[in-house]
Amino acid sequence: MLGIVPKLYEDELFYSWLCRYYVAKGFTSNSHFIEEVTGNNRLYLNKEFVPPFKAEFRHDIEKIFGFENVIRNHTLYGQEARFYTEEEINNVWELLQTDSFDIRTLFRMQKSKEGHSLSYCPLCVKEERESIGECYWHKSHQIQGIDICLKHRCKLKESEIRVGSKHNDMISPAEWWCNDSEIEMVENTHCLKYYNYVWEIANAPCNGMDAKKIIALLYKKLKEKGYRTLGQRLLGIMSEDMEQYYEEMGVSYEMCYSTLQTIFAKYNYPFIAIIQTAYFLGVTAEELLNPVVSDFDIADEECSHYVSDRNNTNINRDLMDRNYLKSVKRECELIYSGHYHAKGRPMKVSALKVCKRVGITHTLIKFMPLCKACIDEYAETDDEYHARIIVWAYRKLKAEKTDGKIIRVSEIHKLTSEWKENIIRALPYMAKFVDQEMINEIDALAREKHWHRNLVD
Ligand SMILES: [Zn+2]
Repeated sequence: MLGIVPKLYEDELFYSWLCRYYVAKGFTSNSHFIEEVTGNNRLYLNKEFVPPFKAEFRHDIEKIFGFENVIRNHTLYGQEARFYTEEEINNVWELLQTDSFDIRTLFRMQKSKEGHSLSYCPLCVKEERESIGECYWHKSHQIQGIDICLKHRCKLKESEIRVGSKHNDMISPAEWWCNDSEIEMVENTHCLKYYNYVWEIANAPCNGMDAKKIIALLYKKLKEKGYRTLGQRLLGIMSEDMEQYYEEMGVSYEMCYSTLQTIFAKYNYPFIAIIQTAYFLGVTAEELLNPVVSDFDIADEECSHYVSDRNNTNINRDLMDRNYLKSVKRECELIYSGHYHAKGRPMKVSALKVCKRVGITHTLIKFMPLCKACIDEYAETDDEYHARIIVWAYRKLKAEKTDGKIIRVSEIHKLTSEWKENIIRALPYMAKFVDQEMINEIDALAREKHWHRNLVD
């Protein structure tokens, strides 16, 4: 029963159409209009979405434009629900069918977010006034993180119209509020690349994503970019780097350390925070929209919550155990053989050292029997360890002295910090590492009066 209605333009916010409908039908009172559309004259109107329409109005909207088309293409649905799971998306659509949803709770919006203004492109305004006789509010000019009109590559202007205002500017057609303002072009190719990235993500089909996969993907990238080392996430450093990165690029950036923590703690998935993190970490739009990660990557990320979430039994520890075994073996070997020591001296293998190297919390190891068994194989007493490094030092010196020069106890001390008494005490434990002949040589060296011995005799 709407009669002849204005056309809904491409990329037009549905709110913008409502405003033009208001003018076309000759309404003069905001509250009458809201009553007509929703059946409730006290209703709050968020300009980036639709209000809960009353049944007749909604029926007409469905017939003329298609309700789903309106939501998907003429509101910021694709931004707000971007990283929702399939279940959350279904919930949103179910609520949208009712006549009493509150858009703020529907999309978990924070009040402060409604404080921003509707933006417009001065060149779009000019063109539209010339070609169709009026301008309108664009959806693409309201996307968080995009400060330019991607069609004209000029900076967007902020209008005086607040997105969440309840006051008498509730019905504010663009035609009344957009001025001819100064035009500022943006030529920086890096900026343009970033804006197109945000746009591509905001406009992709939005039917629910696997949040676990997104976070696992970002977590994996942390490691590749060096923001995760020896089992620690370096989010503080990353936060500073990100701030500098976006500041240098000259785009709006409001994230802070705690937002970054929030992403990785899975409390929620704020649109622009996820996108800026992903872009910074070198995740392509395609990768972010269709994250490809293994079960191991997911378990690996979940495992990073272990310390703060000891009761988390969702971690697939069995999978972790099998997947980490290879690297645990490798690290045990490298630590044991002295690979990480400045002088190449063999080191004692401990769960703490191995876990740090591999990048898992060492408290987790007790739930990983295969890895634990592997580390346990390297267990040794202090006496055995002393014997092992003395043998190592003796062999090393012997191999170096091809010219037949004598080995001195002081040289062994330099490599191992062990003195004569310790060498003698370690003798009974050397059989595990070396034959009797060499034990005798070491014995003789330690007991010799002047602590040296000619090797060639
Ligand atoms: Zn434009």
